[in-house]
Amino acid sequence: MSKGRYIVLLLWVGLALPYAALKAQNYPKGYFRNPLDLPIKLSGTFGELRTNHFHSGLDIRTESKEGYKVYAIADGHVSRVKVSAYGYGLAVYIDHPNGYTSVYAHLQQFQGQLADWVRAKHYEKEAFEIDLSLKPGELVVKKGDVVALSGNTGGSGGPHLHFELRNTKTEAIINPQLFGYEVPDQVAPLFSFVELVPHGKGAQINGSGNNKKMWAQKSKSGYQLVPQRIDAWGSFYVQTRVADKHDGNGFNNGIYQLILLAEGDTVYHFKADAFEFNETRYANSVMDYESRMLQRESIYRCLKEPGNRVSLLPRVKNDGTLSIAPGDSIQLEIIATDFNGNASRLSWKMRGATERTFELSATVPTGERLTPDKPVNLIKDELRLSMPAWNFYDTLDLQYKRSIRPALSYSAVHSIHTPKVPVHGFYQVAIKHTGLPDSLRPFTVLVGIGLGGSRTAATGSWKGDFFEARVRTFGDFYLAVDTVLPSVVAVNHKPGKAYRTGQKLNFRIGDNLSGLDSYDIFIDGKWEYHEFDGKTATLSIPLQKSLASGNHTLDIVVKDAVGNTRNFQTNFKIL
Ligand SMILES: [Zn+2]
Repeated sequence: MSKGRYIVLLLWVGLALPYAALKAQNYPKGYFRNPLDLPIKLSGTFGELRTNHFHSGLDIRTESKEGYKVYAIADGHVSRVKVSAYGYGLAVYIDHPNGYTSVYAHLQQFQGQLADWVRAKHYEKEAFEIDLSLKPGELVVKKGDVVALSGNTGGSGGPHLHFELRNTKTEAIINPQLFGYEVPDQVAPLFSFVELVPHGKGAQINGSGNNKKMWAQKSKSGYQLVPQRIDAWGSFYVQTRVADKHDGNGFNNGIYQLILLAEGDTVYHFKADAFEFNETRYANSVMDYESRMLQRESIYRCLKEPGNRVSLLPRVKNDGTLSIAPGDSIQLEIIATDFNGNASRLSWKMRGATERTFELSATVPTGERLTPDKPVNLIKDELRLSMPAWNFYDTLDLQYKRSIRPALSYSAVHSIHTPKVPVHGFYQVAIKHTGLPDSLRPFTVLVGIGLGGSRTAATGSWKGDFFEARVRTFGDFYLAVDTVLPSVVAVNHKPGKAYRTGQKLNFRIGDNLSGLDSYDIFIDGKWEYHEFDGKTATLSIPLQKSLASGNHTLDIVVKDAVGNTRNFQTNFKIL
């Protein structure tokens, strides 16, 4: 083979393949209609890096307003309805005969026969929060039926429609853009910076064990780094902050592909096509977790840790890590593309350092060495930990420290490794109490302190003098009790106030530690429909037309996760 042909082949393999050839799976195009009547403008893309997850659908903008008609994208049947104060808020799932399920979330309200069905279920279950599956014949929809109005319910940060497509059988979540949804986007992804991260014992970049950050500068010919000498000793990887913008839209969206090339050879390839339902937390390994948790920055790491088994990485060489022989020099290039194929490239040269600048201090490993492929069982005097295999991403030297009991606690503080390192799923922690009176046992929670000081409280159960609960972070843990009743505060109501039907009574409800478990409304002793929005902690009671004129009693019963119950009573008048 002549040299010329070799170069042509290399270019084809290195560049053409990542863009086109891997888009192999045949998803039906044009089968599904737009779920809205609005042109598709996105405030969130599929596979985007979010805290603890990959974004699993498209966030379709609704002109900063609620109330747009949401259509069934094809014939099918409603297979699931979920109403929650958190997460997806009001959501409907429709199964289609071609094997895909469409999901519509953060809805303001359901419409038509679906609305009637859900309403009846609220009264039947006597609950606002429901999660129900439906059989194929129960609620049939036609393509173009209005199933709901768009909204901002659940964990939504502004009015939009969260729209997903899943494989009905496997629940694998698929990029809806693969089904032919057109999104106007001629803007190529924007690089902010590249960081070179020393990885492994003694690794250095420019004589330092710290990350080397290099800002990207945009010019007519593409992206450049400020020219400088960069040399590496040992192993390192590349990470980058890059985002995509769409036409006429200021949102920083996720990219579709990220490719790292060394001398034209693909070292790492991220591609947001589809992932399995239970893979979403691998996002914590794909991104720089600490930057996300502390600065809300989405930094893509070109590193595949051994415990990261996500299917969004079609090609990775040496886990994405690089090393350069002393004195050698290599050309690195990083390419980011959006779904429409707009690409940004950034390239730079690096040299292998000829010597290590500083001596490694002879520090001994401070913890027990753990690899992700094995379960972990740790038993200390006052702590027991049990974790399944594949629950963290890379080998670690587990750090453990016990410190004295803080005020208002009932155990020592147990520091389990560091909250800077993400954990994949739940594991069990049991902590021995100190000085907890028997009477307070039922009110115990396990408090966890995460990155940046955020506090969570988990309920659990007693095993002798140990209180056991499920957690899914590393960090500081201790026992505390919650004996404080949940709070109920009227927002727009005073006892005896007169209303017309159709008006809404609003209350703010909350809990100090263990968190809300349930909330119920009774008017004249009978359960009544209400709504609860988790992000504003607002409980709303729409006054039904069926309410007779005259005086009525209202009971709000709010329970926290350890069973403390507030019974708030008031009364009102219907005009
Ligand atoms: Zn979304």
